[in-house]
Amino acid sequence: MEIAKRTENGSGQCVHLCRPPPAPDLPMQHRGADSGYNALAPPRAYPAPSLPPAPSRLLPSDLPAPHPPCPGSAAVRSPGSRFASSLRVLCSPPRRSAVFWRPWIDDGGEKEQEAPHNAVEAVPLKQGRSLMDWIRLTKSGKDLTGLKGRLIEVTEEELKKHNKKDDCWICIRGFVYNVSPYMEYHPGGEDELMRAAGSDGTDLFDQVHRWVNYESMLKECLVGRMAMKPALPKDYHEEKKVLNGMLPQSQVTDTLAKEGPSSPSYDWFQTDSLVTIVIYTKQKDINLDSVIVDHRDDSFRAETVIKDYSYLVHVALSHEIQEDFSVLVVENVGKIEIVLKKKENTSWKCLGHPQENHNSFIPKKDTGLFYRKCQLVSKEDVTHDTKLFCLMLPPSTHLEVPVGQHVYLRLPITGTEIVKPYTPVCDSLFSEFKEPVLPNNIYIYFLIKIYPAGFFTPELDQLQIGDYVSVSNPEGNFIISQLQELEDLFLLAAGTGFTPMVKVLNYALTNIPSLRKVKLMFFNKTEDDIIWRSQLEKLAFKDKRFEVEFVLSAPTSEWSGKQGYISPALLSEFLKRRSDTSKVLICLCGPTPFTEQGMKMLHDLNFSKDEIHSFTA
Ligand code: FAD
Ligand code: NAP
Repeated sequence: MEIAKRTENGSGQCVHLCRPPPAPDLPMQHRGADSGYNALAPPRAYPAPSLPPAPSRLLPSDLPAPHPPCPGSAAVRSPGSRFASSLRVLCSPPRRSAVFWRPWIDDGGEKEQEAPHNAVEAVPLKQGRSLMDWIRLTKSGKDLTGLKGRLIEVTEEELKKHNKKDDCWICIRGFVYNVSPYMEYHPGGEDELMRAAGSDGTDLFDQVHRWVNYESMLKECLVGRMAMKPALPKDYHEEKKVLNGMLPQSQVTDTLAKEGPSSPSYDWFQTDSLVTIVIYTKQKDINLDSVIVDHRDDSFRAETVIKDYSYLVHVALSHEIQEDFSVLVVENVGKIEIVLKKKENTSWKCLGHPQENHNSFIPKKDTGLFYRKCQLVSKEDVTHDTKLFCLMLPPSTHLEVPVGQHVYLRLPITGTEIVKPYTPVCDSLFSEFKEPVLPNNIYIYFLIKIYPAGFFTPELDQLQIGDYVSVSNPEGNFIISQLQELEDLFLLAAGTGFTPMVKVLNYALTNIPSLRKVKLMFFNKTEDDIIWRSQLEKLAFKDKRFEVEFVLSAPTSEWSGKQGYISPALLSEFLKRRSDTSKVLICLCGPTPFTEQGMKMLHDLNFSKDEIHSFTA
């Protein structure tokens, strides 16, 4: 039996992870550890090592650590919105528009529909230019770089020369790709891609979808690495070995020191049977979901998220430990304690050896996404096309996805790693609706709509119980403090745009004493599409603070409720604030045009920016 106990300890919170070995009926061969490391290291200072002899097919992960984005690049220095769009370059699209739909379907025009409502710009793509066609081309053995499998070091001058459609190189995180062969397959169109031509697109790429696994998508287009020698940050210094054999200074740039939170530090101590790693965050608003711990083989990784920054303790442990460990957060002093159990009661001379990015404190956007393999433990129908997936975290992982945040699921599809974002939910709207069969903190639940002609979800749906899917660390810009002292919470959700609302709703009703009203307006096509309808109705019945209104765009003649699409009339009637001064938050989520139209309508209705939160990738 799985056990996960959370205990309160003074002002601290603690979670113990104790797990037995996997159930014997689950296939053990999948249980191997995911490498987990994003192939590309976040930008930091490295001396430029020389290239190894070039194998014919080389992934960035096969190369030594890349350089940071080349500093001379105009694109890096001008991360304006004009450039942001160029980063759709390599992205699979969450947007519902002709532009983003077309390329992912195999037979192009045939399945194309008119883009609904106010669909944004359309870039016609030729037939046979879907993602699947691209994958086929990359596997055809064709020389896509024009370098016959050689990898080269690219100078900034050289990069700049390759700025034409038929000769277009782009640098991302120190690696240079020849994207000319990809032009016609790019969902955002060739012009979008050309905006990063001959330059470093790293920052621009990160601004839009840093999670997109371009290194897998473009591996056959890899030209080589930037040859530029980066300058070391002013306060860069070698790690110092003090106390317990290892207590290096963290690498913090000047900018960070001035603008960001102060740098955390860590220490460790031991008893005969335990090793405790202590992270001093120097922040008060630290919680159990602020720290993500992964222990695999001898590699120990603890990432602490502090505002928009990430602090990483990453070591190869010097001795073996047991699978279960506990995480304790002492909120009022911002201290995190991770208590590991030694396998043998011997004294450790040092904690271990530093691994990639150990003791770094850098903006979160500059960190790679870390994945771990999770096992599918259950899958149940929710509506005719939506399912509740339950994934189990690997042993020795502590991961709690914060309210309002999403993760990325990654699956290999025809040999290419494909990644899509999903928002974890609870196993039901409220625990009274379903006895919690499984303990918290080990399982992650997702409500996922299966699109029969979609690229990712049919593959996900094919997974059998016991199969694995990789799950990333959480992302997202929803801040829980937005809910503090709230009086009225309005939720506008369309289709699976309901998913972020689940935890927000749950959290608000449970933790916000000032809350007067939570109103959900839920847009769907038909009654059959409404996710957790009976739970929502029961909740409204039980808790008078909660109201739900369903709006259908394609109802049957029996439907007596509201009909149509999001509109100013619907919103002005729905969004009644108690007084001019009452604290209000409106959350929106759904197809991109729905969210965009909703935002505009809310501004027209004089709600301020601070009163609106839209969930996007
Ligand atoms: P896609 O291949 O992207 O296709 C989607 C739809 O478009 C399908 O109906 C497909 O048939 C249609 N389509 C594709 N190409 C064409 C074409 N040429 N012409 C006409 N139609 C076309 N989804 C959830 O279900 N649950 C979640 O919790 C969730 N969370 C999310 C969180 C974030 C932050 C974001 C941005 C998105 C989230 N999504 C969620 C959406 C999810 O990421 C995927 O976009 C979704 O699952 C579709 O993936 P797919 O690859 O199966 O479909
Ligand atoms: P759907 O069933 O296609 O649409 C739900 C409802 O919204 C329907 O009534 C639909 O009307 C309506 N709608 C669609 N486009 C609209 C528009 N432009 N303006 C007004 N109403 C519109 O929804 P779905 O397939 O579940 O898709 C949900 C979307 O939410 C996906 O795009 C997904 O990426 C997104 N999502 C985002 C996040 C996030 O960013 N955090 C999380 C979860 C889901 P008709 O179809 O009848 O026209």
